[in-house]
Amino acid sequence: MAEYKGILVCGELANGKLGSITTELLGCGRRLADDLKEDLCCLLVGEAVGEPAKEAIAFGADKVYSVEDASLKDYEADSYMQVVEKLVKETSPRAIIMGQTFMGRDLAPRLAFRLGTSLATDCLDLSIDPNTKLLVQTRPVYGSNAQAVFTSDVIPQMVTVRSKAMSPLERDDSRTGEVIPFKVDIDASKVRTKTLETVMEEAVGLKLEDAPVIVAGGRGLGGPEPFQTTLKELADLLHGAVGASRPPADNGWVPEALHIGLTGKIVAPDVYFAIAISGASQHTAGCSGSKHIIAINKDPEANIFREAELGVVGKYEDVVPALTNKLKELLAG
Ligand SMILES: Cc1cc2nc3c(=O)[nH]c(=O)nc-3n(C[C@H](O)[C@H](O)[C@H](O)COP(=O)(O)OP(=O)(O)OC[C@H]3O[C@@H](n4cnc5c(N)ncnc54)[C@H](O)[C@@H]3O)c2cc1C
Repeated sequence: MAEYKGILVCGELANGKLGSITTELLGCGRRLADDLKEDLCCLLVGEAVGEPAKEAIAFGADKVYSVEDASLKDYEADSYMQVVEKLVKETSPRAIIMGQTFMGRDLAPRLAFRLGTSLATDCLDLSIDPNTKLLVQTRPVYGSNAQAVFTSDVIPQMVTVRSKAMSPLERDDSRTGEVIPFKVDIDASKVRTKTLETVMEEAVGLKLEDAPVIVAGGRGLGGPEPFQTTLKELADLLHGAVGASRPPADNGWVPEALHIGLTGKIVAPDVYFAIAISGASQHTAGCSGSKHIIAINKDPEANIFREAELGVVGKYEDVVPALTNKLKELLAG
């Protein structure tokens, strides 16, 4: 029987560089591998992975398995499955970590089925049980109203991790590691789909996921205009981005890309303003990782005040312009 050892992170590239989810997974994987006193490995697949492989080492990997193949430029489930399955069977990692991303959500269940193992999706925290060396997985349950802690004794253990749930290490280019070219002959007869076209999301200004400050508005704003004026003014002043709960996106007041929550983006800025948002669990599932939540709502009983560190009870029409003016004064002085 194979001896299972080490942690394998299935990395993702974004515009030819290491994707931010991969740096986050490496940060978490490093901690787990150190607890186990075993290696942290990273798989990178794509047309050209030389530079990202160096980045992966700088962000904590001991070994990077690099698979370079022009046919693997874009993620495609059937071909990527062949790569990961072969690597896992040859290297026997104790645990396999993917992002809760388009790729991870698609690939992880297929791989878990193929390996006959368990999978915990959308994890928020991971640790190692020192007695059993098994991965302990924390994930949201009941529509994010509670968190449950799981483990499984089927090896390799598999998890996907929510973006922004883990922190990357500081990049350290003096770190050393090994880049190991890994050869896979893709069986084209098993590849049933191909990407015909990639449509880039139109990005205007700062991306929500990268913004240090998010000024989010809800149904209580009543229409599109306050998003473009009152909220945008505050967001611009703080070098942040405007976001929304689901109803404004459903109503077409804001683009769908600004929708935050269980079915939208997961964000974790330094400061999150929730303005005229009631604080339904499906919304807070997308923003509860924020460092500081500030709520503005006319209803003192609104659930958002239970999530928020600071809150103002009042109409947004009065509170937000007053806050913006005060901040302008403070920033000017
Ligand atoms: C399967 C599923 C998935 C979902 N996914 C998501 C998701 O990803 N993201 C998401 O956001 N929702 C999601 N929802 C919807 C969610 O349940 C709530 O309905 C939604 O979050 C409510 O949005 P809201 O807080 O903007 O609106 P409301 O709940 O209507 O709240 C509006 C708030 O504005 C306040 N208000 C009104 N006027 C003013 C004013 N002048 N000044 C200040 N405050 C005012 C009110 O007091 C109220 O608290 C999902 C629901 C389901 C069933």
